[in-house]
Amino acid sequence: MKLLLVEDEPAMRQTLVRALGNRGFQPRACANGDEALAAWHAGLYDVVVLDLSLPGRDGLEVLREARAAGLREPVLILTARGTVGDRVIGLNTGADDYLAKPFDLDELEARLRALARRHAPAHEAAPRMQHAGTLALDRDNGAVYHGGEVLELPPRELALLQALLASPGKAVSKERLFTLVFPHQAEVQYEAIEVVAYRLRKKLAGTGASVVTLRGLGYLLKVDA
Ligand code: CA
Repeated sequence: MKLLLVEDEPAMRQTLVRALGNRGFQPRACANGDEALAAWHAGLYDVVVLDLSLPGRDGLEVLREARAAGLREPVLILTARGTVGDRVIGLNTGADDYLAKPFDLDELEARLRALARRHAPAHEAAPRMQHAGTLALDRDNGAVYHGGEVLELPPRELALLQALLASPGKAVSKERLFTLVFPHQAEVQYEAIEVVAYRLRKKLAGTGASVVTLRGLGYLLKVDA
């Protein structure tokens, strides 16, 4: 069971990664909101564990943004703020369950399994292949196909195409693309994404799909009708 864990406190994060890993989960741990959103957009998870108080973008903002972007994985909010108000705000923002710290690991595990079970049909119903014209993205392994053949691209161009193919015809912000194409590379110039987009645009010539720049919004993948 794939799990996205968002927790800023290192000791708590490590404990949860180890404990949940021992209980058969495959945790992907993130320490802040930006990292969490990038990982959430880039992968498929069965369930998300989200700490509410995070540095910078807090848990509720992450949740709000994820839901607005159409990410539907079930979310369990984990927080030290155990007040009724936080619980209601969290559930209204799109969380599916709530657990206050300190909590029992057995209870966390039981709730995560229940959440994943409840959401399993919708999850399985999501098509594995995302088609856009003659291009197709295999959501399971990230491979991109053109007319049935694997499209061989350098890693950065592939990452950009994967991100655009995941929501064809919709603008994807430059900021989000940057975190997906250049993960953990703070020293890279922001404009580098334009170079990757330029190269990808040339490689897509003749596929019927093109990378369109939307000033101030980002990029989108346009597919010939
Ligand atoms: Ca925290």
